[in-house]
This record gives sequence, C-alpha cells and structure tokens, in this order.
Amino acid sequence: MRSRFLRTLIVLLVMSLSVVAQNPELSKTVQPFVRVQATKLVLTHVRVIDGTGAPAVDDQNLTIENGKITAIQPGADVGKTDGTTVLALRGYSVMPGIVGMHNHLFYIERPNLDASRHFDPPVLVPQMTFSAPRLYLASGVTTMRTTGSVETYADLNLKHDIDSGELAGPHIDVTGPYLEGATSYFIQMPHLTSPERVRQTVNFWADQGVTSFKAYMNLTRAELKAAIDAVHARGLKITGHLCAVTYKEAAELGIDDLEHGFSVNTELDSGKKPDVCTDSDGGETIARLDPNGPDAKDLIRTLVSHHVAVTSTLPVFESEAGPGRPPVRQAVLDAMSPQAREDFFLLRQPRPASAPPPKIDTAIAWQHELAMERAFVAAGGLLLSGPDPTGRGDVLPGFGDQRGIELLVEAGFTPVEAIKIATLNGAIYMGREKEIGSIAAGKNADLVVVKGDPSKQVSDVENVEIVFKDGVGYDSQKLLESVRGRYGQY
Ligand SMILES: [Zn+2]
Repeated sequence: MRSRFLRTLIVLLVMSLSVVAQNPELSKTVQPFVRVQATKLVLTHVRVIDGTGAPAVDDQNLTIENGKITAIQPGADVGKTDGTTVLALRGYSVMPGIVGMHNHLFYIERPNLDASRHFDPPVLVPQMTFSAPRLYLASGVTTMRTTGSVETYADLNLKHDIDSGELAGPHIDVTGPYLEGATSYFIQMPHLTSPERVRQTVNFWADQGVTSFKAYMNLTRAELKAAIDAVHARGLKITGHLCAVTYKEAAELGIDDLEHGFSVNTELDSGKKPDVCTDSDGGETIARLDPNGPDAKDLIRTLVSHHVAVTSTLPVFESEAGPGRPPVRQAVLDAMSPQAREDFFLLRQPRPASAPPPKIDTAIAWQHELAMERAFVAAGGLLLSGPDPTGRGDVLPGFGDQRGIELLVEAGFTPVEAIKIATLNGAIYMGREKEIGSIAAGKNADLVVVKGDPSKQVSDVENVEIVFKDGVGYDSQKLLESVRGRYGQY
C-alpha cells in the first residue's frame, strides 16, 4: 500500500516536472506576446498540413494538452465546457513549426558602403540577439540551428533564457564558432591552423554547451578530418560551408551536412588545388555542372551513400537569379533599421559599369542549383532548408525561412514537399523527429497557424497569425511590431 502511494507520488512528481519543462513560467517580457495559453486547447475546423509531405486534410480538430498534440480528429464544433479553450479556425491552415537549418543570429555590415558598392574593410557581423529571435518566432520558426556563431556565449545564454521563459524566441541548436583556417571572410572568426587547434576548439565549445559545429571555407582536409572526428566523439554533428575541401572529399571524411546546396562545391573550379579555396568559391562548378550529366550523378550518389544531408539556402542566392524577381515585401523593409534599409537599396542598384563583369552566368547557376536540389531528393538525399540571412541585406530571419519554402516550390517541389523539407527533414537530421517536425498525436505542439491554404498557394506561408511553441500560442504581429525598424541595429 505504502509503496503504491510512493509510486503514485513519484509518477505525479515526474508528470508535474515534465509539465514545467514543457511550459516554463513566462516572464513579463514574454507574456505580452502570448495570444493563447491553456491546459487544454482545441483548434477547430482547421486545415492540417502535417509536414510529412502528405496532402493537406481539410476541416480537422486538433487538440493540444500540456504542450503536446493529443488528438487530430474530423472537424466538429466544441463547446467551451470543462475548461477547454476553443479556437475556431475555418479558413486557416496549420503546419508544423519551421525547423530552420541555416539561421544566423547576426547581421552583415559593410562599413561605409556607397553607390559604387565600395565599402571599407573589415566586413563585420553585428549580433542581433534582440531582433532575430523575435523575427524567427513571429515567422513560424520554432526550432533553429545558428549554423556558425560569433558571440557564442550570447547565443548559449539566449538559448537558456528562451528555454526558461525569460525571452521570446525559438528553440535553438547553438553552433560553435566557425571552424575556419588561416584566413576568413569576416574578422570575428577564429583562425585554426592545425588539426590540434581544431580539436581543442571543438572540445572547449562542446564543454560550454554548443550542440553543433560548422566547418568553414579555408579549412584543409586534415583540419576538417580532425573536426569531424572530434565532433563525432562528442556525439554531435558537423556541417560545412566548404571551399578548400570539395563536397566529395568532405563526404569521404564523414561530414554530416553541406551548406548552400550545391553552389559552393569547388571540384570543377578552374585551377583547383588540394586544400586551397578557389576564386569563384564554387560558382564555376555549379555553372558548369550539367544536372543530368555524369558528374552530377556521381556527386549525388557519393553524398547519398555517405548519408550527407544538404542544406538549401536559396533565399541568399535569389538576388543573382536573374531578372523578374518579386519586389521585397513591405514587412521585410519595415523590420529593417534605417541603416540596413539604406544599405539594402545601395546593394540592389544595377552593377556599376566600373565593376568587373561577373565571371559566371549566375542565372544559369541558379537553374542548375534548383535542378540539383530536385535530383538530390529524388535520389533519396535528405534536403534541409535555411535562409542564411546575410547576402545583400534583404534576407531576414524568419521572412527568409518563408521565402525558402516558396523557392523550393520554384525548384519544382510541391508545396507540401517544400514544407516537409523546411520542417520534418530538419527534425530528422537533428534526430528529434519523434518530438518535432510534423503534426501527429504525441508530438510537441510546435505549430504555425496561417490564413489561407499554403498547400495550394505556397505564398500563404507568409500569412502567419499564431505560432505555437510547446503549446503556447504567440501573436505573430505583436512580435513583429516589437522589432519594427530594429533589424540591423540590435
Ligand atoms: Zn551562413
């Protein structure tokens, strides 16, 4: 009798602990953004896009209890009895929270940028610890990987403060500082010039709590090998934006993921020397690569057989895709700081006559990139998605994640396939597909409520109303208003 009482007590304690873990006390900073929070909540008459690539199902009731999805049933009216909160969502769709896999927490600053696109070195990446997490959550991103960090302690503390309910934002997989070789694109990267230093750096940051790593452009094969082995020894994963090392070399060395689709593989770049980055950073290779040719097939076969994921970052390349692109959304311009907006308009001016002509046809490269992403998935490859909010300043946290889904549709995926790439695939890569990434009973209630039907018109992914993270519904507009004119500033 007594032991049964104890057992019950322990079960109750564990249950209450898990409820606390799901729903921490939200601070006064976070509470104003909460639109709905209830022990039991039913979304009625909503269209469900479940994130698995299955067709959308109209008119469903979705029940959320203690932060989890507990039931998905045919739509029915539900009375507000027994403490159940009801949200009537006819005309709306619900999809899984976005799992953004190339989602930085910094901005890119080109000091003294002018109309001829000249700027003074060094390129800097100021931290956006205030605006970026709010933009991500407002846009439907509920989990993200930072994919290279600059202020790693800030990112780790941000993750802690979000998880404890102090600050608003998505769940974060904090990536360690860029593992970079002798020189670097921006000045805040470590310069690791030996395998031993790479190993030390990986172990130091794994000890501090980072949960992923990213190798960068000038790392050599020996250094990359040291990084991969050290990261795997800690039970973590490593991705790479590579240049000195080719995709096939990295696959053979055991890398887990490659950033920027197929656009930074340097294998066919002219004058490619082992362990040395090229002038075109892979631009020549993707422009030359026939997506139906033997080189492309061989590359895809190598990546798939080594279980290497590829992260699509189409938004950051879109400005090079050629004419006929849609204008940047007003909401994106509204989020930018005055300086960021000014720089964006300078960078989108036509290329000045004084500038050297581009070495490659970027519009062809864009078409090849789209075709390669399709072929990779058709061959069984795991394609992830993330916007890489850097570029010429119009790819913003969150908005860029939505644009990524739209551009995957331009690449030839159906809208529900594109949504799967941006949700479930990221969860699979992180080994978290039992908890997040799709809509199913038992999973965390990480959901995006959008007006319309993105399974038919993919741009409806932009119409975000409420973003649920662990069952708490955040008001997208209120989050956006709180960072209006701030992105690029802090
Ligand atoms: Zn990046």
